[in-house]
Amino acid sequence: MTKTITSALVNKLDAMLSPCRLCPRECHVDRLHGEVGSCNAGSILTISSYHQHFGEEPPLVGRHGSGTIFLAHCNLHCVYCQNYEISQRGMGHETTLQECSRMMLRLQALGCHNINFVTPTPWIPQIVEALRIAQDEGLHVPIVYNCGGYESVETLKLLEGIVDIYMPDIKYADDGCAKKYSDAPHYWDVVRKALKEMHRQVGDLVLDHGIAQRGLLIRHLVMPENIAGSKACFEFIRKELSETTVVNVMAQYYPTHKAHNYPEINRRITAREYRDALAELERCGLVEGFRQTMDTIVREIVPEWTDELRET
Ligand code: SF4
Repeated sequence: MTKTITSALVNKLDAMLSPCRLCPRECHVDRLHGEVGSCNAGSILTISSYHQHFGEEPPLVGRHGSGTIFLAHCNLHCVYCQNYEISQRGMGHETTLQECSRMMLRLQALGCHNINFVTPTPWIPQIVEALRIAQDEGLHVPIVYNCGGYESVETLKLLEGIVDIYMPDIKYADDGCAKKYSDAPHYWDVVRKALKEMHRQVGDLVLDHGIAQRGLLIRHLVMPENIAGSKACFEFIRKELSETTVVNVMAQYYPTHKAHNYPEINRRITAREYRDALAELERCGLVEGFRQTMDTIVREIVPEWTDELRET
């Protein structure tokens, strides 16, 4: 966090809750007076859990973990969400801003290399106000914004100098898929503009002794039947951001929540589908990022690939 958070900024963000236009959905509900919009988030910050997390990408985890704060609610409604109880059912506890700032300071005291807000989008004003308290109390580790990529550029601009590391998903390159599986109109247009703004603010990922300090780290979840449009996503990153953008190509899709209602995504991806996505990434010339070996994936994520790999 390089910027001192002022009352003027806090007030400006608060005003965006009433009527709410924090994210591209622009629900225009009055969240400061009891109304809720598409994400179901109200006025009081709701946190599901906070802890030292060792399952994030290696530059965030280091030796002491990423200081992860899981927020309730989400502005996407993915039918296959693995955290749907938190993101869509709002499982969590109402939390004061002072409590939230104490969580951050506790995670920092435990040695966490960053404070990692998961699905922060509906809560940006409350988070920034809590950060202001924590900043006064000595919070100094990098701030991670870990989101689904469905962000408003106008709101992101207000986070310049506050967020150090943006970690968005790029989920789809096709608006029809985004609408069908995440109820996210115009996702492709929205995510491209959002990622460009994030990259403008923080640039490529910068490490110090292997630990992320600043920059953009993009996640791409490979989906069955190429529903995630991997090739177009990678081409956009290569052409519009940089060839050195760090991309994590993830194999851990599994059908959960309402995915059983959609036969085409009611299965895990195959080893072939994952390899095809990696081949597209290489063809695009994107070289930075995280690729799990087939051995690791079979051991830890998709044991079902064992037979398929034996046959190839
Ligand atoms: S943050 Fe929630 S209420 Fe506000 S515009 Fe987005 S979805 Fe609607």
